[in-house]
Amino acid sequence: MKGIAVVALILLAAPALPAADAAGAAGAAVASQFITLGTHGGPVSDRNRSQPANALVLGQAVYLVDAGDGAVQQLARAGLSLAAVRAVLISHIHIDHTGGLFAVLGLRHQMGSTGKITIYGPPGIKAMVDGLLAAIVPEAESGYGVPGEDYVPPQNTVEVVELRDGASVKLDGLAVTTAENTHYSFPKGGDMDRRFASISFRFDMPEVGQMSARAKVHRVLITHLVAGRDPNVDTAPLVAGVRKWFDGPVEIARDLDRY
Ligand SMILES: [Zn+2]
Repeated sequence: MKGIAVVALILLAAPALPAADAAGAAGAAVASQFITLGTHGGPVSDRNRSQPANALVLGQAVYLVDAGDGAVQQLARAGLSLAAVRAVLISHIHIDHTGGLFAVLGLRHQMGSTGKITIYGPPGIKAMVDGLLAAIVPEAESGYGVPGEDYVPPQNTVEVVELRDGASVKLDGLAVTTAENTHYSFPKGGDMDRRFASISFRFDMPEVGQMSARAKVHRVLITHLVAGRDPNVDTAPLVAGVRKWFDGPVEIARDLDRY
């Protein structure tokens, strides 16, 4: 995975992650991959593409980048375990990007996963996750049919971190920085812009990034294809749109592609 930008609120800057074979020689084997779990977009389901979700794999750890409906199933199809998911990064709170979050949190609780999962997202994600956790409580209180099991409040298994423009976090040495964008339609004169935001993510391996004068995008992946009721998306205009500002490789990503 190197030099990729994913169009749909995610940016992977190059030189990004060391390939598994390159890192192995240094004794710090980090098998890194970016897997497009779901490349559809919008509320209408598609028979060939799942809702928006991606898996960033760093060694044994998996980070979900958006969690649309079906994200857990797509993880399984990619050969990844839900138990390996350490954190979820949500770009914005639209349901096509968050519909699978309930399953991520609920199934993880049902599995008895120990430790906290962290949900990173823009302002508004905390209220959403609080609601999802509250919805898990009746099921968690009723138990999973395992004799002698302890009740663990779902709220104890999750941490939420809201990120604003320019915020940065570290994931296993990978630097993630955010940039706010405008993806909502706020009415004028209210306080919605203080309460909510949408963000894009940029992933950099710092020690590699500092060596290059300026990290450059080498390849652009287009995801979040919105077909509506037409199953055949005309991708030519999408590629042409990227071509206006980028003359490198441009790809239409498919579900379960690996980079
Ligand atoms: Zn969307």
